Amino acid sequence: MKLYNTLNRKIETFKPIKDDEVTLYTCGPTVYDYYHIGNIRNAVFNDTLRRTINASGYNVKHVMNITDVGHLVSDADQGDDKLEKGALREGKSVWEIAKHYTEAFKSDMLAMNVLPPNAYVDKNNNDNYARATNFIVEQIEMVKLLIDKGFAYKTEHAIYFDVAKLPSYGILTGQKLSEKETGARSDVVTDPEKRNSHDFAVWFMAIGHFENHTMQWDSPWGSGFPGWHLECSAIIHATLGDPIDIHTGGIDHIGTHHPNEMAQTEAAYGHILANYWVHNEFILVDGAKMSKSKGNSYTLENVKSRGLEPMALRLIYLQAHYRTELNFSWDNLESAQNRLSRWRSIADLLFQKDKVTSITDKEHSHGGVDILGALQNDLDTPKALELIEHEFGNFENKPICFICLDNLIKSIDELLGIKIQGNDIDAKTKSLIHERHLARENKNWELSDKLRDDLHTSGIGIKDNGNLQIWFRL
Ligand code: AMP
Ligand code: ZN
Repeated sequence: MKLYNTLNRKIETFKPIKDDEVTLYTCGPTVYDYYHIGNIRNAVFNDTLRRTINASGYNVKHVMNITDVGHLVSDADQGDDKLEKGALREGKSVWEIAKHYTEAFKSDMLAMNVLPPNAYVDKNNNDNYARATNFIVEQIEMVKLLIDKGFAYKTEHAIYFDVAKLPSYGILTGQKLSEKETGARSDVVTDPEKRNSHDFAVWFMAIGHFENHTMQWDSPWGSGFPGWHLECSAIIHATLGDPIDIHTGGIDHIGTHHPNEMAQTEAAYGHILANYWVHNEFILVDGAKMSKSKGNSYTLENVKSRGLEPMALRLIYLQAHYRTELNFSWDNLESAQNRLSRWRSIADLLFQKDKVTSITDKEHSHGGVDILGALQNDLDTPKALELIEHEFGNFENKPICFICLDNLIKSIDELLGIKIQGNDIDAKTKSLIHERHLARENKNWELSDKLRDDLHTSGIGIKDNGNLQIWFRL
């Protein structure tokens, strides 16, 4: 399997630490608002990666965090805590905000057929997400280590990681610290005791601006709460053990969050955090990054309320390679929905098996298409879809081998996570389609033509393949 490793800026052959197991960590949501479909791209990308590794013969141990404390509005330790802001906006407690948006996130993941993480169990919440607030002790331990080893220092307001102490700091971006500094924003430095503008907080004291911060815990440095970057390092150490094989995230994490995670682990434990760093590109709307703050974001609810399916959204992500920008439009989503419907109508032929003489084993070698091979090539999902499309074209136009069709549908389901069996047409339309099938079988051409026209009027096209019929949305 080949993967683009941001760390070395090239495509590499993937070699896990163990022979039969892969450890995978994904930075999860900050639960202060609904996930938008840009965020969901990240989730589907992770899921495709996980399914591919799994199908390649490894047991994947996957952990994902939930940020329910400490993520300030700016990655550079400025502004308010996002959860506190959400609570203020909605007149709820931070705990209620976290719970509500965690649940919303989980139901989005379910609808998107994204596999939940599997290597950590949160018994209290009865799920597999590693909430930052469940790892406060581990985070405090890590801060202690960083201070003991001389990598962190205390000011009145916070404990900072001293980036100048770690020569490898920032290797992920390919920039030297000195180069980064020239571009540093002066507004970032709010604490006059901070030594270097790139030093980042690993612990905030509940004083001054944060005096009334709702989530605070006792620590050897007084009451406070962890800095955002800390949770990922601490959670990985506690659940998977470091180094891990693969760490993923969106490209926005390459600049700050991931270098800071790496620095914390290296400084505290003396080895790197992950061997492969894999990042997905953004979703754009009219050329601009989709983001909550820009007000150009859509949620899965928006998709559903337009009568479009989560699986069509999944298809739209797969149509683009994860390392290319993807411009979102409702037109594109409509086309993906149509494509899905067409696949589905062909998949439906499996239920008409008894009605036709299909190709038999003797006449056919069940070649199939190598979807896994395409995915193993740095998750080449556009190539995988091309292969699938070609195969569906054959099914549409040639006598059908049901074993091949069945295999194809299974691999689309297992590898790409797209459920195509099922229905997106109502029962009445479905029965009209069936009636037409019977009319043709009975050679009642008049009725079958009439039914085809009726279906056409209600937006369903019909194509005949031998004595099978294929329906599709017009
Ligand atoms: P956040 O909750 O903001 O940390 O975002 C969750 C994940 O979604 C992160 O891995 C981000 O990098 C990713 N992400 C945020 N915006 C976009 C976007 N417009 N397109 C693709 N991924 C995104
Ligand atoms: Zn992270």
